[in-house]
Parts: sequence; structure tokens; C-alpha cells
Amino acid sequence: MAKPTELHFGAAVSEGQCPGCGRLVAMVRIGNLDFHDCGECAAVAERAARKSALQRRFLECEAQGLIGAAHGQFTFKNWRPACDAHRPAWEAAWLLRKNMYLWGERGRGKTLLARCALVRGLKDGLVGEITGPMLGDARHKALGTFRVWCALPTLLLDDVSMMPNRGAVGEAAVRQLWELLNARVGLRTIVTAQMAPNSLAPFLTEAIPGNPGGAVAALARLHPFDVFELAGKDLRKPAECGIGKAESGIKGMAHE
Ligand SMILES: [Zn+2]
Repeated sequence: MAKPTELHFGAAVSEGQCPGCGRLVAMVRIGNLDFHDCGECAAVAERAARKSALQRRFLECEAQGLIGAAHGQFTFKNWRPACDAHRPAWEAAWLLRKNMYLWGERGRGKTLLARCALVRGLKDGLVGEITGPMLGDARHKALGTFRVWCALPTLLLDDVSMMPNRGAVGEAAVRQLWELLNARVGLRTIVTAQMAPNSLAPFLTEAIPGNPGGAVAALARLHPFDVFELAGKDLRKPAECGIGKAESGIKGMAHE
């Protein structure tokens, strides 16, 4: 804390109560105006400003289809687990304490559950959804989309196992995944995949054969995370699992 006699950018400094939070802080007098030099309130204001800038950019990205927003219909009120084996995953998604990695074959309800979790994430601020195939496209950096992906309090990366993993595009995709997860340490990321995390690392390593540790390093950025396998029958084939009607297997899971 500044002593009353100290100079602050050439201005006289005394102590005073911050009008924002009531803390005793440095009060800088410039001309006949007093400025409370409160780091706490500045941090709050900065966070708010950054949030609104993020919100503006998010809306631009959404309009261009570069990110998906939360879907209001995907709530835990509207959907229930397809079977009891899925219940632990649903409970974890409801609590949303950690990053999540949901894996299983197609049609097991991974995206449905992840989207419900995403809607839960709204309590902590903006949420967004991207898909594996979007990774590796340099335009996302040029457009500033990538920065939004990195900064959202909660992000769903749906079907990471569909991201490119061959050639130059594959290499760029893995690099982007690493950068994304690295930037998102401390934020919440929900990942879905058609393979277990142990299998995803070798899959990604194919893209960067010269850097075998790269994919593992990328996935390590997800820690701590909950891993759940969603097994069972294909929910998109209602006849097979005996729920709901044909039009959409997922709809069959909805409550009446
Ligand atoms: Zn203050």
C-alpha cells in the first residue's frame, strides 16, 4: 500500500476508502480529482470489460457459424439417461465440477449429455460448442474465432475423434488442439469422442509423427477431468433399443 508521501506517476498519493469496495487504498490526486487506485475493483472492471468484449465477439462468431451456442432444450429437465449405466455420467455432468471426456460409439447420447452439461455451464458465463473437424483451419485464428474458443468459461469440443489427423491439416489440427487446451487450463472443457483417451493419443500422434509427446501433452491439459464411457445400444435406432419412435432416436429419450 502506498504511503501518503509517495509519488505515483508524479501525482501526490494519500490513503482513502475505495468507493467501490470500501478497502483502504491508495488515493491519487491529479489536479483536483481523486482517483482510488484499487487493484481489486480494477480487476473486477477488467473482467467485466473482457467478458462483454468476449460476448460481442462470441455473437459475431455465432452469426458466422464459427461456434455453436447453448441449446435451451438440452436441459436435465427435458432428458434422462438412456440406461442406468449412464447415470454416473449424467450426475457428473449435472455437478460439472471438472472437465469431462465422454466417449463411446456413435448414437450413445454423448452429444446430448454434453449439451445438457453445456447448458449447466451457463451459470458460470458464456458457453459454446465446436466440433473436431473445425480444428486445423487457419482462418479461425485470422478471424479471432480461436481466441473466443480459448476464453469461453465453458466449451464443448464435440467429436474430437473426427478432427483431421493426416498430412499438413492434421498437423495444424493437433497443434491447434494443443494451443486450445493449453489456453483453457482453469476453464471448463467438455470433450466427446468415439474412442477412449488412451486411444486418442496415438490417433493424434499420427498427425505429428516427429513429435510423439505432442498429442499426450495436449490431452494432459484436460486434467483434472472425469472420463465416462457411454455404452449400450444405438439411441438413433429406436427399434433396436425399444424407446420412442423412429423420427429421431434421441427424441425417444425425452420425458413425456
Ligand atoms: Zn475497491
